Amino acid sequence: MKNKLHITNSLSRKKEIFEPIAHPFVGMYVCGPTVYGDAHLGHARPAVTFDVLYRYLEHLGYKVRYVRNITDVGHLENDADEGEDKITKKARLEKQEPMEVVQFYANSYHKKMDQLNVLPPSIEPHASAHIIEQIEMARRILDNGYAYEKNGSVYFDIIKYNTDHPYGILSGRKVEELLAYTRELEGQQEKKNTFDFALWKKATPEHIMRWPSPWSDGYPGWHLECSAMGAKYLGDRFDIHGGGMDLLFPHHESEIAQSVAANNKMPVKYWLHNNMITINGQKMGKSLGNAVTLEQFFTGDHEILDKPYGPMCIRFFILQAHYRSTLDFSNEALQASGKGLDKLLAAYETLQGLKASGGGSSVDIDGLERECYGAMNDDLNTSVLISRLFEAVRIINSVNDGQLSIDADALDKLKKMYKTFVFDILGLLPGEETKSKDDLSDKLIESMLSLRQQARQNKDYDTADSIRKTLEGLGIILKDTREGVKWELK
Ligand code: ZN
Repeated sequence: MKNKLHITNSLSRKKEIFEPIAHPFVGMYVCGPTVYGDAHLGHARPAVTFDVLYRYLEHLGYKVRYVRNITDVGHLENDADEGEDKITKKARLEKQEPMEVVQFYANSYHKKMDQLNVLPPSIEPHASAHIIEQIEMARRILDNGYAYEKNGSVYFDIIKYNTDHPYGILSGRKVEELLAYTRELEGQQEKKNTFDFALWKKATPEHIMRWPSPWSDGYPGWHLECSAMGAKYLGDRFDIHGGGMDLLFPHHESEIAQSVAANNKMPVKYWLHNNMITINGQKMGKSLGNAVTLEQFFTGDHEILDKPYGPMCIRFFILQAHYRSTLDFSNEALQASGKGLDKLLAAYETLQGLKASGGGSSVDIDGLERECYGAMNDDLNTSVLISRLFEAVRIINSVNDGQLSIDADALDKLKKMYKTFVFDILGLLPGEETKSKDDLSDKLIESMLSLRQQARQNKDYDTADSIRKTLEGLGIILKDTREGVKWELK
């Protein structure tokens, strides 16, 4: 092991030294997507964050079993216990089978993850394929007295649980506070308290996705699937559970309560949460009209995008911030990331052609490598790591210009180190079409426009017209404005 990895545990709210329960094996569970729509930037951040953790743990020599689920049942609108299932609703609107919706968006999610160079997990369980395990877990919670049945539905009893175990240890919320904010129970409410959550829901007649259970034909509550599948594949207590900060409460808090209620054991040693992405300072969401899908980023087909941004540009943009910081999207920020990525990849090309210089080395590659590991070991600080890699870029370019000398040994180390951090750990891909190519096409279009302008000045309207038509054929529309001729894509 290189050094000690420190990670911030949301449970203790502190940085802790990572020590797996059964060294060298590591069990890691990350909440995957509910597959009822196209993956967007908000899906990319946890995927990339935990991909880097997965890659780094493997690099350090751990044997990681990485479980990332697909939620295909039980996730209701507004993340609540009432309302339509998100997948059923989509199926109804699209006139499809729910599993057709699931398959379509799971395929599409996998394709996007591939493009982002996110490694597939070791196991990708579907909630709908683990109904038996979920019924079994709900039954144990009922047997242990921490749940109650009402009209065929089973609810988790938070007040009862809180008398024996502290509820709210992850989010810091107190039951007394929840009680104070609780609205009066509405007439049809089956729960003892509004903050109790469903382990099993009886299906209404129109609810399509349903299974038999001891209590009713119905379906599992959303929180239960992760507890049941995590325990099935990683055991009653495993090392790492990750997800976005938005899942911390109530989803992950409920997972802890369910597992303790069923197994009398804290299910997870380290809870890790990535922070959220904002768009021009605003929370991302469909209601704000700023939920840009990854496909739209890759094609540039969205009104808030100035141009397309390749998958590696998106990945690099995410990695430039520490995972616990918020990350604000803007065209300027993404374009700056694209330029940074170009520099990093161009330096890799330069590095391949570098020759060792005689007369010793004037660069300290060992020191730089220690700083890179230091950044990763400090709670996966990819932001600092990237700044150290730019120091490597400076060295590479200076050696190339003859301003610095490097001996064969140091050059070998630099090559190995650069490849390890840029490609193996950060998971960037060499040779992707990056912004430089887009910049080049921008310049080509501009030069066509100036040729056309010249032709017009020379009253050569045939040539000017033919340039306009050629551009139009390529989907480029010209517009006369006060500041001169502008162009846009059709
Ligand atoms: Zn989950």
